[in-house]
Amino acid sequence: MFDESRCDLCGECLVKCQYVDYSHKTAINEIKALIEGKDAEVLIECITCVACNEYCGKGAGPFDLINLRQEETGASFTTDSAIRFMDMGKMLPAKIVKGDPDKPVMSVCSVGDLIPHLFEGRLFEGMTILKGKDYFCHLGYIHTGMESTLRKNIERVVNNLTKISTDKIIFFHDDCYSAFTKKAMEYEIDVPFKPIHIIEYLRDFIRDHQDEIEKLNMKIAYQRPCASRYTPQKDLILDELFELIGVERVKRKYDGIDALCCGAPIAYVDKERVFKIQEKNIKDAKDAGAEAIIFACPLCAMNLRDKAKGSGLDHYMITELCRLVLGEKI
Ligand code: SF4
Ligand code: SF4
Repeated sequence: MFDESRCDLCGECLVKCQYVDYSHKTAINEIKALIEGKDAEVLIECITCVACNEYCGKGAGPFDLINLRQEETGASFTTDSAIRFMDMGKMLPAKIVKGDPDKPVMSVCSVGDLIPHLFEGRLFEGMTILKGKDYFCHLGYIHTGMESTLRKNIERVVNNLTKISTDKIIFFHDDCYSAFTKKAMEYEIDVPFKPIHIIEYLRDFIRDHQDEIEKLNMKIAYQRPCASRYTPQKDLILDELFELIGVERVKRKYDGIDALCCGAPIAYVDKERVFKIQEKNIKDAKDAGAEAIIFACPLCAMNLRDKAKGSGLDHYMITELCRLVLGEKI
C-alpha cells in the first residue's frame, strides 16, 4: 500500500525503473501526478514488475500507487487475453492429494501442473498437495492492473487453507508466499498458519541430507520472480541453498534488486518489447559465464526457457536442481 507520508518526491524509484528512461525531473513529475490522481505516462509504460517498491529506500511503495491508478484509470497496458489467462486460475478444479499425515502440506496454487512431473522424487514423497481454484492466491492480478481482485479474494483463500488444519504450509509459487505474508498483512488479514517458502523447505531438506548429495559444481544465473520484490529477505536463504548444492550464482548486471522481469506480464500486450527484455536478460546470463538458468516460478520458466535453450543455456526449476543434487533423474 502506498504510504504518501514516506515519499519525499526524490524520484529515485522511476529513475531506476529499467523499462522507462526518465530524468529525475520527469520521474518526480510522474510521481507527483500519480499522487494527485492526474494522468501519468508511467501507467501505460509500467510492466508491473514491482521493482520500484524495492528501489524506494523509504518504503513508500510506489508500485502500489501505480497499480492503484492503473485500476482506477483502466490503463490499457493489459488485454482481454491476459485477463482470460489469469481467470483460468479461478477455474481449475480444486484438489487435495492426500499424503502422509506426518509429512508437510504444500500448496501449488493453480500453477503446479504447468510443468509436468515437478513434484516427483524424495523431496515431495508423502506430502499432501493442494491445488486448483480453492488455493489460487490471486496475486497475479496485479499484472493485469486489477489489484482489487486480489484484495477481494485473499481472505477466502486464507480460509480455505486454514481448513487444512496444519500449522505450516509450504508455498511452491513465489506469488502465494508473498500474498500470504506481505499482502495479507497489508490488508490486515489474519493468517493462522506459517507460510514456508519452497526455497526454505529445499534448503532445510538438503541441509538434513548432506551426506546423500553430490555437489553440482555448476555456474548458474538465477531468474528472480517479480513477487520476490515483496519478500526479498528470502534471497539469503536461496544463497545458502546454492552453497549447499555447489552452484555458483554468477555475478551479473540483471540480478538481485536489478533483476529483469521474464516478460510474462506483458506477453499478450507487446511481444516485441518482451523479446528485447528477454534478449538482454539471457545475453547478460551468458556473458557472465552461466551454464544454466534457474527458475523459481513456472511462468518465468515457460516464458524464458526456449530463449535460454536457443542460447545454449540449460534451464531448471529450483526444485529440479535439488533433485539432481540428490542423484535423481529429471
Ligand atoms: S516513492 Fe520512494 S523513491 Fe519514489 S519518489 Fe517517493 S520516496 Fe522517492
Ligand atoms: S513496477 Fe517495474 S516497470 Fe513499473 S514503474 Fe515500477 S520498476 Fe518500472
